[in-house]
Amino acid sequence: MLYLFIFILGSILTSFYMVVATRIPNNESIVKPRSHCDKCHKQLKWYELIPILSYFIVKGRCPNCKNKLSILYPLLEILGGILFLISFLKFKISYDFFLSIILSSLFIIISITDFKYYIILDSVLIVSELFIIIINLLFKTNFLFYLLSGLLMFMIMLLVKKLGDILFKRESLGGGDIKLMFVIGTILGLKLSLVSIVISSFIALFYALYSLYILKKEEIPFGPFLVLGAFITLLLKNSILSLII
Ligand SMILES: [Zn+2]
Repeated sequence: MLYLFIFILGSILTSFYMVVATRIPNNESIVKPRSHCDKCHKQLKWYELIPILSYFIVKGRCPNCKNKLSILYPLLEILGGILFLISFLKFKISYDFFLSIILSSLFIIISITDFKYYIILDSVLIVSELFIIIINLLFKTNFLFYLLSGLLMFMIMLLVKKLGDILFKRESLGGGDIKLMFVIGTILGLKLSLVSIVISSFIALFYALYSLYILKKEEIPFGPFLVLGAFITLLLKNSILSLII
């Protein structure tokens, strides 16, 4: 029962994150108007707002204009539920659980905004950082250490960007990636953040090859990979720490 509750919570929050990630970049309000069909703008009824299920209730089409709805919506909601469930299975209700939830949420939102618009929203990073501070206060951690880790990660990324810009003679890392790494630094601390960048770069490299040779696209967003690497690092924290110390 509890597992089901955590899964549903993850998918409900994910459907809210999708609203945030698609409306804010277009300067639309996230509260008004209520969710509507992108094509005919008809407001959705309550049963069309149930995460995952509503897609199947309306058979993947807007009941009003029969416009096809993206399969990505229910898939992302399922993914959100799974990420929340993994977090709970791994950490139960603990400090790491809340960090894992924040990373799961960031992963959903940043994947949408970075793949779709090549941006990482400042507002999303600021709200995440506020939650991180609250969690650190609740669990009475040494937040100064995490704050300094975040600042150091920020400076390292800035340095990498400057070097990359000179080396490749074009924008190598976006400003959003650098700010995101500050947030990840305050979540993971210095050592684990460095490990997470290695993991992220490794996954991003595979995606870059796929993108370049299959999709024929040169520009790839790095944000989703940074968050994914951080999420994996947090899950494997104990094994990684025992390896590097
Ligand atoms: Zn419609």
